[in-house]
Amino acid sequence: MTKKVAVMRRRAIAACLAVLVVEPVVGPIFATAAVGEQSGGVQSLGREILKELIETNTTHSSGNATLAAERMAARLVSAGFSKADVQVVGQAEKKGNLVARYRGNGGRKPILLIAHLDVVEAKREDWSFDPFVLTEKDGYFYGRGTLDIKGGAANLVAAFIRLRQERWVPDRDLILALTADEEGGPDNGIQWLLANRRALIDAEYCLNVDAGGPELRGGQVSALDVQAAEKVYASFTLTAKNAGGHSSMPRKENAIYRLAAALQRIAAFDFPLLTTDITRAYFEHMAPLSGANADDMRAVAKQPPDAAAAARLSGKSAFYNALLRTTCVATMLQGGHAENALPQTAQATVNCRILPGVDPASVQETLEKVVADKEVVVAPVAAAVPSPSSPLVPEVLAAIETAARITWPATKGSKGVAIVPYMETGATDGLFLRNAGMPVYATNGIAYDPDDYRAHGKDERILVKSYNEGLEFTYQLIKASASPR
Ligand SMILES: [Zn+2]
Repeated sequence: MTKKVAVMRRRAIAACLAVLVVEPVVGPIFATAAVGEQSGGVQSLGREILKELIETNTTHSSGNATLAAERMAARLVSAGFSKADVQVVGQAEKKGNLVARYRGNGGRKPILLIAHLDVVEAKREDWSFDPFVLTEKDGYFYGRGTLDIKGGAANLVAAFIRLRQERWVPDRDLILALTADEEGGPDNGIQWLLANRRALIDAEYCLNVDAGGPELRGGQVSALDVQAAEKVYASFTLTAKNAGGHSSMPRKENAIYRLAAALQRIAAFDFPLLTTDITRAYFEHMAPLSGANADDMRAVAKQPPDAAAAARLSGKSAFYNALLRTTCVATMLQGGHAENALPQTAQATVNCRILPGVDPASVQETLEKVVADKEVVVAPVAAAVPSPSSPLVPEVLAAIETAARITWPATKGSKGVAIVPYMETGATDGLFLRNAGMPVYATNGIAYDPDDYRAHGKDERILVKSYNEGLEFTYQLIKASASPR
């Protein structure tokens, strides 16, 4: 999960109190016990799996994702999956990936379900508890990865086992991939699987638990975020060169001044306003609940979007601005080689977040035009990986909504859970799949508190109640997505 970006997005959503209410869905509602009536067996199995994952250290420095993958594989095999359908594969000894196939009757193309196994580093001395021991206290589960994203991974494994034990047969294969190196490191599991075992994970679309999810407001789940697009990451360097010389005899021509002037022109520039299906859907769904911003949000959800309304929203929120345009911002700076010398080189890094569908080459051209100085060379740091938006397919959204309505039923005084599609301003593993042509929808059932978001941080935690709701939501989502029709 992207870190600060996720928090910023959540804060922005929090600021507008998202409570989109969707009309009751027409579709299969599975007779089931509500979460509170879930059998103790379901919850204790879910807890055991989470405990095993948390207590298997999967950090880059000292952890072992292969061991976590093998432990989950053993659980699936003992629940009745054939060994041939449960594989641990990969190129590095400690960076294995689990791929498990739940065989259906072949009525439709498979669905891929993903979560990453690796977690961000955590130091015992920084935490109130051992980060690699699942600790339950005051209604919370604490441990590195509870929120990002071993809780989600454990929900998926538990749902596979529960469905198998119920002898449920889906109308399509379900492929579970729990992978390494999402947070960093050289052995990203999704990239490796796409390059080396494509057939193992080929699917009509992917459900990713590593973004989106239910928002907790005042103890209630009011909105379920569904990430259907991500902006594209691209960095450029701006380099100014100069003959240099002794600083006791300065000339007007100076690499640092030249670069500074170029950066000021970028600072003053805004990329053009541009909306997509997903950002229009987001603003449209959020408008009724956004108080003073409602009219402006409706106005930018129209085609073409209203420029004055967009300018007002962009002025109020960096998140809205990031939804409405490609952004480029200076993030690093270096120059000169001695205190008493004229600089021979000055270089800045400019990080861009490009709207899906916009060509990174056109962004470089725009930067060159804005800089308007042939002596300042604009060059890409690395090739950008495109991440096309995933279409908002009604069938996928209906399955998510069905699962949400069962997990968080509307009660007297509460209108029920809103389903809110959105574009992430950061990135997840979904980008590699989208780039390979597979649509990705990211959501999960473990509610997070936008004002107390601890992924990657100290004392990471989730509510035990939310974890149990996640068990139910995941199980219901799989059933709603793959039940014979
Ligand atoms: Zn994550």
